[in-house]
Amino acid sequence: MSDPNIFSKIRIVLVGTSHPGNIGAAARAMKNMGLSALYLVRPKDFPAPRATWRAANASDLLDNAKVVDSIDDAIEGCSLVIGTSARDRRIPWPILDPRECGEKVYSEAKIHEVAILFGREDRGLSNDELQKCTFHVNIPTNREYSSLNLAMAVQILCYEIKVASCDNNKISVEWDQPFASSEQLESFYDHLFSVLIELEFYDPENPKQLTTRLKRLFSRVRLDKMEISILRGLLSSVERKIRHK
Ligand code: SAH
Repeated sequence: MSDPNIFSKIRIVLVGTSHPGNIGAAARAMKNMGLSALYLVRPKDFPAPRATWRAANASDLLDNAKVVDSIDDAIEGCSLVIGTSARDRRIPWPILDPRECGEKVYSEAKIHEVAILFGREDRGLSNDELQKCTFHVNIPTNREYSSLNLAMAVQILCYEIKVASCDNNKISVEWDQPFASSEQLESFYDHLFSVLIELEFYDPENPKQLTTRLKRLFSRVRLDKMEISILRGLLSSVERKIRHK
């Protein structure tokens, strides 16, 4: 049996959606699979009658949807953030298929808040936005026509969460420390990059792909809260040393 407390910790985040009909259809897809936490980052047109029509009996999700100004607001407090993408990116990121995504999301929602980000109809998610994610998920499609309708992508990933919840016994999470939240990771990156600038190791005028590569490294490692505080302590000692030289 799927547990409603676990489902309530799973946020579906739609970023910059243009068509309100897609928001309604996504709400319907979520409710069919037992999910309810809908976050809308700067939707172009919401609330809107077309969203309500397409939601059918899921308009309660629209009424309770959280409309926010930034992705950081939508993922605040989340310790697992997954980004969806129809395309291969220049720098590949740790990737999950929809089944692995469903299993990971369901198992981690037992212990902390989780978010899945969906992009704009015309452009998807930007590279910066995708770099906020620990994993990317790609729904296998026809190589010549890979981009699904937004709400259909939401449907597939919510369905996989539902499947994982029915197969609950297979899945467990074993780690001695809680994973870092998205805002702890962001402040760690800010701290790290400012120390690297001070050390003249990193030149923001000529960034190449240093920050992206470092973020990807730490995404692969999956830092926990204890490791973040060790690294923050280390960065502070480096700062003290260079300032009192
Ligand atoms: N041209 C955009 C497509 C956006 S489709 C791009 O290349 O990214 C709108 C959103 O639907 C995407 O941002 C993603 O969230 C979801 N989506 C569409 N097709 C997908 C696929 N094959 N795998 C994963 N997500 C997909």
